[in-house]
Amino acid sequence: MDSELLREQGHIMVDFIADYYRDLQDSPQDFPVLSQVQPGYLRDMLPNSAPDQPESLNELLDDVTKKIMPGITHWQSPSYFAYYASSTSVAGFLGEMLNAGLSVVGFTWQTSPAATELEIIVLDWLAKLLQLPDHFLSTGHGGGVIQGTGCEAVLVVVLAARDRILKQVGKTVLPQLVVYASDQTHSSFRKACLIGGIHEENIRLLKTDSSTNYGLLPESLEEAISHDIAKGFMPFFICATVGTTSSAAVDPLVPLGKIAKKYGIWMHVDAAYAGNACICPEYRKFIDGVENADSFNMNAHKWLFANQTCSPLWVKDRYALIDALKTNPEYLEYKVKVSERDVVVNYKDWQISLSRRFRSLKLWMVLRLYGSENLRNFIREHVNLAKQFEDYVTQDPHFEVVTTRYFSLVCFRLVPVDGDEDKCNQRNRELLAAINSTGKIFISHTALSGQFILRFAVGAPLTEEKHVTEAWEIIQKHASKFTRNGNC
Ligand code: PLP
Repeated sequence: MDSELLREQGHIMVDFIADYYRDLQDSPQDFPVLSQVQPGYLRDMLPNSAPDQPESLNELLDDVTKKIMPGITHWQSPSYFAYYASSTSVAGFLGEMLNAGLSVVGFTWQTSPAATELEIIVLDWLAKLLQLPDHFLSTGHGGGVIQGTGCEAVLVVVLAARDRILKQVGKTVLPQLVVYASDQTHSSFRKACLIGGIHEENIRLLKTDSSTNYGLLPESLEEAISHDIAKGFMPFFICATVGTTSSAAVDPLVPLGKIAKKYGIWMHVDAAYAGNACICPEYRKFIDGVENADSFNMNAHKWLFANQTCSPLWVKDRYALIDALKTNPEYLEYKVKVSERDVVVNYKDWQISLSRRFRSLKLWMVLRLYGSENLRNFIREHVNLAKQFEDYVTQDPHFEVVTTRYFSLVCFRLVPVDGDEDKCNQRNRELLAAINSTGKIFISHTALSGQFILRFAVGAPLTEEKHVTEAWEIIQKHASKFTRNGNC
């Protein structure tokens, strides 16, 4: 890193990025929200091999504009309403910049004491904002760690819970281990279980439906557990979700936690998206019952302006995690001995990989440069915008809102006519394709009870009321093809 070159080119790059954010707002026609390129588009635009001689940054940025940008789906566009948002902020960006600049690899405490210690402190701060129980704080037996993604978070806790039970009852019971979640649980749960050696037929994804707004029914869980125990299986893990990926459904943590406690089962709470909202007192009720959970995670890169990637995970018993994931090769011999493991945290033992980024920097910067009151207001504003969209849908007889909205996601569809669900699904599918091919907005879909559902998720930091109104106008315009005769 030549410091003067960095200064010169860093300024150029910051200008380039700042211009991008300006243009996304001022010239949206130049940035189709959903990239409209065809697969393989880039192959013909770039040479077959890397250059022998250096090129200039200006040449490269020119290529970014002409060749890379067409293949970008603009998650930061104010008219991005698909999946869940990937929220950025100036503070998060600056944190990433500092992280890239320092480029430390804090796998053990001594490889950068500040990286470890800041992570502990910032996750204690965030835990307090979420009013998580004290046992998740670093001062007790628990603690927080920033995983890269929600998928990594669920994987490490499945491994910790698995090893905890295998240690208690012996390794031979692995084929009898059973896990539970709702059929709305993120696909990473199944993947984590399979990686953890849980037999596929022992992954119970319990059925949900509209009667509970797609939340898991505690009775189905208890029934499944009793049934499994009677057959000689060993229930050891339940993954509850607060804010499912499809429809932001909420599993009731209080009764689920009681059941988990009764049967000695590890309960993990996946609050990847909705957990962020729980820094607002009015949404905290959705994680009531987390007191009985063994672990909890949320994705600050989804809705806490922490830029990709940042998935804080808290565990009640950090030693369960460490026992499952620790490695102690000679070449990593610590200045602080393993036997003194209470003295320092070595985060390599809380995650899958060894190397790790200094992610807490950006979270620290987001929390400090905005303050929690501002963060709460951002989230409230997004929820209000979703409510505005929901009102539009409700007022149009050709559409219906299909689930109760808790946060900033609205699930809706064109209504069926004469009960013809197949035709209705097809129409909604066509409507989605038509809307997204405009490049003006991007929304996504899901399936609930066999119905093709459109999802409108607010969370892009630049979104304002006018973008929601425009989005609704675009949806209505394209829907008119189907609604002209009053038909879906
Ligand atoms: N859990 C839930 C509820 C999610 O919605 C998602 C992603 O949308 C994940 C887990 C996976 O998170 P990540 O993409 O960070 O692995």
